[in-house]
Amino acid sequence: MANNLPIKIQNYIDGSWVPSSNSNTFSRENPANPEQIVFVAPNSTSEDTNRAVEAAHAAFAPWSRTPAPVRGDLLYKFTALLEAEKEEIASIITQEQGKTRREALGEIDKTIREVRYTAGEASRLNGETLPSERPGIDVRTVRVPKGVIAAISPWNFPIVTPLRKIAPALATGNTVVFKPASVTAATAAKIVELFEKAGLPKGVLNLVIGSGREVGTPLISHPLVKGITFTGSTEVGSMIYRLAAERIVQVQLEMGGKNAAIIYDYKDLQSAVDQMVPAAFAATGQRCTSISRIIVERPLMPELVARLKDKCQAYVIGDGLEDQTTLGPVISEDHMKTVERYVKIGLEEGATLVCGGNRVDSASGGYFFEPTIFSNVKSDMRIAKEEIFGPVLVVTPVDQFEEAIQIANDSEYGLAGACFTNNMELAQQFVEQVQSGMLHVNNGTISESHVPFGGLKHSAVGPYSIGTTAKDFFTDLKVIYSGSR
Ligand code: NAD
Repeated sequence: MANNLPIKIQNYIDGSWVPSSNSNTFSRENPANPEQIVFVAPNSTSEDTNRAVEAAHAAFAPWSRTPAPVRGDLLYKFTALLEAEKEEIASIITQEQGKTRREALGEIDKTIREVRYTAGEASRLNGETLPSERPGIDVRTVRVPKGVIAAISPWNFPIVTPLRKIAPALATGNTVVFKPASVTAATAAKIVELFEKAGLPKGVLNLVIGSGREVGTPLISHPLVKGITFTGSTEVGSMIYRLAAERIVQVQLEMGGKNAAIIYDYKDLQSAVDQMVPAAFAATGQRCTSISRIIVERPLMPELVARLKDKCQAYVIGDGLEDQTTLGPVISEDHMKTVERYVKIGLEEGATLVCGGNRVDSASGGYFFEPTIFSNVKSDMRIAKEEIFGPVLVVTPVDQFEEAIQIANDSEYGLAGACFTNNMELAQQFVEQVQSGMLHVNNGTISESHVPFGGLKHSAVGPYSIGTTAKDFFTDLKVIYSGSR
């Protein structure tokens, strides 16, 4: 457990831990126990942001000339340090973000696997050799880093999402200004501390903590920033896309989701339920790839809903630091009010509340909310269309598989999707016709550490992160024609 709360956090600019230029700070409460202050951090300004970008710019030339496998070695060193401190970091994640310790440890293990893969990628920054149309000419391509990368991350996965940006940026020779979500700044500072311990040269990775308006906007607008990798809401992502277009800067945007699972012509309903419930409620439903809609053939709905309800009722809601807890709080009081508002909307729209729907009173006053299921949900209801980003699952009955596909696609988002069926023709139809970046057949929505991760429609823009595709964002391509005389 992280002792000595509150943790005092600073920015990290040009290899030094510093307060914000105006010395302003903010504090973050534990969402499971709001009276406990987890950290106090700088409320930074555009001046801090500019200094960080300038430091990253100055560090770019030497870092980009460091041999790529040596940059990879530094990432391996980082993973060894993370492995050694994972118990402490898991406690920090649970205390500032709310997810259970088991979930926090799972997130750290996934981070380690992803960063190890990325460290290896540093030695695989291959180009191509091509035949020339002319004698005596060699044609080849090389990958070159972009320069200063802005890495902006959300609060729901405070370690894996930042590393999904920082690790490939560093491996490919870029330097980074990292702006985490304010509420998870303690994990962000820990990430940077581990890179400092691993021996990363000054200026290569900089941390600026503060609001989207005071830090995020000046960061993405800075003329020395040459690439923006962002994970967060579609609303903010779309604003970033507009600003980046004005400067003609490349973006990698990973945004919202309203992910559907179809259950049709499927015998083992319990197996689907056992995979769908964690896919819906892990991290208290605050995952971009959460299953938030189930579309089921009408005759199966009563039995499916009964089984979903049974499984939900087994959740133990509470402080994620306690061993028995399986469902932590939502991120904030405001977010709990948003989830409550959607429950009210669902009831007003005429959906059937199967279970949950209420905040949970506790002695600590934590932001606890019951796992909630609505059935008889029509596809045009707001609870079926809008990203709630909380522990709410909606079930829509259909009469034909084609209708299930049409409803799955009737969304502005296209991140993940699942289909449970024993009919291979339907499985093929699902894979061919559902407009989502990651599709799962007879499988939850778990993504793997070496496989491209991304989405379609309003869920993503730019090359997928992780896997072989990450370098398509973090490097530019040069084509070289060499004559022999
Ligand atoms: P958010 O969009 O509110 O914030 C994300 C980050 O953007 C934060 O660091 C925030 O401070 C920053 N930001 C806010 N305004 C900004 C501005 N004007 N300029 C620059 N930066 C700004 O999202 P959130 O509430 O932190 O996270 C939840 C959202 O993230 C959900 O929509 C979820 O689906 C999405 N998400 C997507 C993925 C994915 O991989 N597709 C993963 C995790 C979360």
